[in-house]
Amino acid sequence: MAASRIVFVMYHELELAGRKLCQSEPGYVRYILPIETFRSQMAWMKKSGWRGLNVGEALRYPAEASVCITFDDGCETDLVAAAPVLGEFGFNATFYLTAGFLGTPGYLHASQVRDLDAQGFQIGCHSMTHPYLPDLTDPELKHEIVDAKLQIEQIVGHAIEHFSCPGGRYDQRTLRMARHAGFATVANSEFYANSSSTSPYELGRVAILRALTLEQFGDACRGRGLWKKRLQHQARRGAQRVLGNRAYDNLRAVLMRKSRP
Ligand SMILES: [Zn+2]
Repeated sequence: MAASRIVFVMYHELELAGRKLCQSEPGYVRYILPIETFRSQMAWMKKSGWRGLNVGEALRYPAEASVCITFDDGCETDLVAAAPVLGEFGFNATFYLTAGFLGTPGYLHASQVRDLDAQGFQIGCHSMTHPYLPDLTDPELKHEIVDAKLQIEQIVGHAIEHFSCPGGRYDQRTLRMARHAGFATVANSEFYANSSSTSPYELGRVAILRALTLEQFGDACRGRGLWKKRLQHQARRGAQRVLGNRAYDNLRAVLMRKSRP
């Protein structure tokens, strides 16, 4: 029997009518889905017989058709928008929180994190201040990985085992630090499905973008066409390496502004 492959999908903040987003630049908004879009994706999964798992459950790589659902950044909509929809369909998910953002406008408060945890959702860590980790010195990296883990553990009162990299950026030093800190897994945002032969420290994830159609979402769940996205992604990463992360982001912001109507 072929080993089961599971696509890990990556969401961010959700858009609710009348509610201000945490950030407004186009590079951020392209990762933000209206709640109705998210709900229709979950409904599609349910109707098609897919299960929605958190990272811990997905790592057992069950044979049943499954998608691993993850959220980055720790926005308040994790609790007020995503959790009720997930509950409605009987799905679980992992919410990776940026520890230093907790309690600031638009992000979860400590009591809301405990609420998500008590509802049975899995809480993970997404650094302290959301920097590109490979750009940091060792002490800075320790703060982003070790201190962030401790801070979230203090809120929920139990171990936090799963980490996701801000902006998907990581290097071997990042992974070593995460392992030493006691994380069992690290997720990035490279376009590949995971299986029992994938390193738990290099879990690929597929970003679900605002512009994705329901059909494209279905393809993503099935792992279709990921190779193509991966090639595009590698080209972008190459440009980022040549230009440096900061210069690349500035250039991208300018290009995205130009392409707007
Ligand atoms: Zn993030």
